[in-house]
Amino acid sequence: MSVAVSRDQEFLQGIARIAVDAAAPNADEVDREARFPVESITALREAQALSAFVPSELGGGGVSFEAIAAACFELGRSCGASAMVFAMHQIQVATIVRHLEPDSWFEHYLRDIASEQRLIASVTSEVGTGGDMSRSIAAVEPVGEGRWQFEKQAPTVSYGAHADDLLTTLRRSPKAEPGDQVCVLTKRGQHELQQTGTWDPLGMRGTCSPGNVVRAELPLEQVLSTGFATVMNESMVPISHILWSHLWLGIATDAFDRARAFVRAAAKRKPGEPLPMAIRLSQLMSELSLLRAEVSSGLAAFVAASAGDRSELSQMSTILRFNNLKIAASEQAPRVCTGALGVCGIVGFKNDTPFSVGRHLRDTMSACLMVANERIHETNASLLLIAKEV
Ligand SMILES: Cc1cc2nc3c(=O)[nH]c(=O)nc-3n(C[C@H](O)[C@H](O)[C@H](O)COP(=O)(O)OP(=O)(O)OC[C@H]3O[C@@H](n4cnc5c(N)ncnc54)[C@H](O)[C@@H]3O)c2cc1C
Repeated sequence: MSVAVSRDQEFLQGIARIAVDAAAPNADEVDREARFPVESITALREAQALSAFVPSELGGGGVSFEAIAAACFELGRSCGASAMVFAMHQIQVATIVRHLEPDSWFEHYLRDIASEQRLIASVTSEVGTGGDMSRSIAAVEPVGEGRWQFEKQAPTVSYGAHADDLLTTLRRSPKAEPGDQVCVLTKRGQHELQQTGTWDPLGMRGTCSPGNVVRAELPLEQVLSTGFATVMNESMVPISHILWSHLWLGIATDAFDRARAFVRAAAKRKPGEPLPMAIRLSQLMSELSLLRAEVSSGLAAFVAASAGDRSELSQMSTILRFNNLKIAASEQAPRVCTGALGVCGIVGFKNDTPFSVGRHLRDTMSACLMVANERIHETNASLLLIAKEV
């Protein structure tokens, strides 16, 4: 077995333990109280999982992107909020790793993630542009002596109060166009978060994502040198869509497993009697298989497109491919959870049975809002008019 394969296996064994021992037992309480999944994130820190994707030469775990995606799936099966926090952090880490310049400030920063297990939150959405990641209103502006500052009105900052650092998108300067953006990393102590709202949502309650005004002052070296348009196409958007869809698949898989357990329990109680819900379970399995196939082919396509110079990731057909993954997975995951509810009936509807799927349904209902599907359709519609091949 190669070193890389055994590294991935060891990492995933650790994640499976955390999913069972820390994420699953606390998932209902995290959801009910809309509280941060502290047990999962503490366990992930202890297992050095926050730096799993940091290259080993920088002190990280050096695991593959496929292993990170598998970890999101595994955590999603136990606790959607834990999986989402993990996925969002890994999106930021992977973005930095993939656009790293040798000997840059960011190289030292990745070493800090490995040694200190720092947790990064994301500030891409903005009041005024919504989930349109490709435009910013707030800008970085010089304040003298090589230092810069910004203030951004953020409608949703997941686990902002629990994060060590923030990755924020901004206009390159006060005179820059909305699409001329950069990515800026600020560490705790360099930024201040002023909470502007509450967080009592329908689902993904443990992500603790209220609005905030983010103010920061930082040295120029903490601006990622690659322009955000490239970062967005080559990394942030496809990686978000892949990791999110893996955790949505995880949640849907657990809902299906609960429905299956319900049908098996019913079959045991009435051996030999026809079970109409067993037919529904079979139909549900087809729905889950569709989701699984789309998610795994999206991952394979991304890994293949990342192998070379990554230029394929900026082609219109590829952008459409990963946008479609997000739309399909975000619609299919709640469909599977609704189907599981149909199989289980009232014991699935109740919040306190082994077959409860209310949390699963509510968590997956956030999927179509995490960058509104209508926005993605609008982008796709424009691309379809000009793309040569799709
Ligand atoms: C659980 C969760 C956690 C999140 N965490 C973060 C985070 O940590 N950091 C972060 O930056 N963001 C985060 N987001 C994303 C962020 O909340 C939203 O993307 C952003 O606030 C946009 O909000 P909005 O729903 O008002 O969408 P908008 O994009 O502003 O859209 C508003 C409405 O207009 C519709 N609409 C928009 N464009 C079109 C169009 N072209 N055609 C038709 N209808 C359209 C949408 O469907 C929607 O109904 C998170 C979202 C969720 C659900």
